[in-house]
Amino acid sequence: MTVFNFSAGPAVLPKEVLQRAAAEMLDWHGSGMSVMEMSHRGSEFISIADKAEADLRTLMSIGDDYEVLFLQGGAIGENAIVPMNLLGDCKTIDFVNTGEWSKRSIKEAKKYAQVNIAASSEDKSFMYVPERASWKLSPDAAYVHVCTNETIGGVEYQWTPDVGAVPLVADMSSHILSRLVDVSKYGVIYGGAQKNVGPAGLTLVIVRKDLLDRALAITPSAFHWKEQAESDSMLNTPPTYAIYIAGMVFEWLLAQGGLAAIEKKNIAKAKLLYDALDASQLYYNPVRKEDRSRMNVPFKLRDESLDGAFLKGAQQRGLLQLKGHRSVGGMRASIYNAMPIEGVQALVDYLREFERNPAK
Ligand SMILES: *Cc1c(COP(=O)(O)O)cnc(C)c1O
Repeated sequence: MTVFNFSAGPAVLPKEVLQRAAAEMLDWHGSGMSVMEMSHRGSEFISIADKAEADLRTLMSIGDDYEVLFLQGGAIGENAIVPMNLLGDCKTIDFVNTGEWSKRSIKEAKKYAQVNIAASSEDKSFMYVPERASWKLSPDAAYVHVCTNETIGGVEYQWTPDVGAVPLVADMSSHILSRLVDVSKYGVIYGGAQKNVGPAGLTLVIVRKDLLDRALAITPSAFHWKEQAESDSMLNTPPTYAIYIAGMVFEWLLAQGGLAAIEKKNIAKAKLLYDALDASQLYYNPVRKEDRSRMNVPFKLRDESLDGAFLKGAQQRGLLQLKGHRSVGGMRASIYNAMPIEGVQALVDYLREFERNPAK
């Protein structure tokens, strides 16, 4: 049976990448070693890390005025690491609160700084992105933080906020590499790898070089961006195997035509699924249409007593991990880059079939 994995993360990876990893598991390119067994300072692994960084730079058109760091700690770690690295002499950070992951980053930042909520969509259960004109930015903020794709709520920025001279910082964990992004509009872009990039354990940080001298003295060396930049992300042992897999995902994306090509596919996949939900009497997605995420599609059954039967039938058809986040219930289909449109079509077919005949 063909299986389609809709997990929000750790999530589906391209089959081709996993097959290559399997073939190279015991002997990487005639080295006689698995990548897991290599010194991070050996020429073999350095070549893997350098290629991964170069390919990521090509994919996202990252300029020379940005550092690309391969770190550990995940996005929740980075929620604390970002303020430590960017606060400098400032006291305040502006946040736009669009849901659960915004709230997590606010919670961490409060340990180091005064937080100003410049805008929030809490008034409508986080079902939209507040218009830029409504944001109340502070004049002296160290930076403005946004979560550009709320993985749990399924809310995504379809536009890039203009915040003037203040650095814009974005948690892009769950949609990085899913669409074209103008990196030059951001001071920092960060994200955990396990949604759309590779295995858990790797955290991507893309930081403009002129922001590297603002770290608080208490910043741990392993999380100090400038020290890590000066050590090519090898101040501590980097997550070597995760970098290797991510590097193959970058190659996979480049081979398909890069981010413009994958964005087209992602638009088509999201349309297929949202159109099916909108056409149905049983299912609904509550997010404002223009702010719907192309990556994470939460939906509910109007009759919640059918949830169990729905999930059971999905599992039997090889449609895996559709259960919604424990905080919101319902269902969630994550349709990252590595989910083929055939998987979305199989889900849509099942949605229709179950609506016609919901086996109680
Ligand atoms: C998953 C996720 C996180 C948390 O990532 P961890 O790797 O568990 O720290 C943070 N932000 C967003 C947007 C996410 O999707």
